[in-house]
Amino acid sequence: MEIFETDPGFGHERVTLVQHRETGLRAVIAIHDTTLGPAAGGCRMWPYPNDRQALADAMRLSKAMTWKNAMADMPLGGGKAVIIGNPRTEGSAELLHAFGAAVESLGGAYWTAEDVGVGLEAIRIVRQTCRYTFGVDRDPSPWTARGTLMAILASVQHVFDDDSLDGRRIAVQGVGNVGGQLVGMLTERGAHCVVSDVNETAIAAMVDQYGVEVAGIDEIFDVPCDVFAPCALGGAVDDDTIGRLKAAIIAGSANNQLADPHRHGELLHEAGITFAPDFVANSGGMLAVGGEIHGVDHTDAELTEMVDGIRTRVNAILRRAAAADRPPAEIATAMARDKVLAAR
Ligand code: NAD
Repeated sequence: MEIFETDPGFGHERVTLVQHRETGLRAVIAIHDTTLGPAAGGCRMWPYPNDRQALADAMRLSKAMTWKNAMADMPLGGGKAVIIGNPRTEGSAELLHAFGAAVESLGGAYWTAEDVGVGLEAIRIVRQTCRYTFGVDRDPSPWTARGTLMAILASVQHVFDDDSLDGRRIAVQGVGNVGGQLVGMLTERGAHCVVSDVNETAIAAMVDQYGVEVAGIDEIFDVPCDVFAPCALGGAVDDDTIGRLKAAIIAGSANNQLADPHRHGELLHEAGITFAPDFVANSGGMLAVGGEIHGVDHTDAELTEMVDGIRTRVNAILRRAAAADRPPAEIATAMARDKVLAAR
């Protein structure tokens, strides 16, 4: 993997490796771009099999945050942190305090928040040693779910020329904080959801609450559906799954849904599958809590309007992509890059 990458003008500004001997903390804090404002993005805790994968994940995710914040028109740059370890057994308060101290030492160049494996409780502990946290007082996940719904509505309208979800079959991979709430919103609009999750309790709750159909962890890729919504971890669309997906649309909340953004974007385009760019579809949470960094507090009515704007944004991207006959993710990335370049 290249660290000083060859993407002209868009290599990472700063990548910090943190090791705290007393607590065993090992973390990567990646600051991709601060042109538009301080780098902002969540902190993920995951038992990465090796250091390289952790580094690659932090770098990829932080770059996606630059595009996400730019496309959401927020005065924020892109950053992300990853902690190497199992959140269930290794996420002690001491370790989170050490992580907070590391973020604090960057003096506000990077602001941290919740992500997979690092919930709100954990971020509240990080806040005890760090001023640069956000999304602590308001849970972003309902807003991320609402934004994802907006991306689905825009995509369904684009593909079927009708935005009704009544009777549409939607496969949701991962029914955690975001996916679970999304299933509620989809069901309310008459969609028929098929869900998968590695967590049996989460699945049972979905069956109880919404009477959803359940698919196996691997089976979810073979489910004939109108929309496939990846809401688990990144990389759902890869060399294996791309030929199996039987969806007209991919629109979900997960970050980095395409294992290789360029190649898999092209392959989806060739296959005629409409892809709502992940960093736009899942920007609702950032819209909801990113304002905290600049001391701005929006009302729920203001946030609803802001998050519902994701529908217009996805719609514009899909129309431009169709007109140019190019993959939507490529178009959205180009739009985000232009916004950053214009601000430099
Ligand atoms: P979460 O941890 O609450 O939920 C993820 C769910 O996916 C869990 O229930 C987990 O058991 C399940 N899962 C893991 N591996 C799976 C697999 N192979 N197959 C099926 N299910 C699997 O996380 P979340 O907050 O709901 O976030 C979901 C995704 O959306 C993540 O990729 C996250 O980065 C992204 N995202 C979340 C937010 C937010 O506001 N929470 C904002 C932007 C992006």
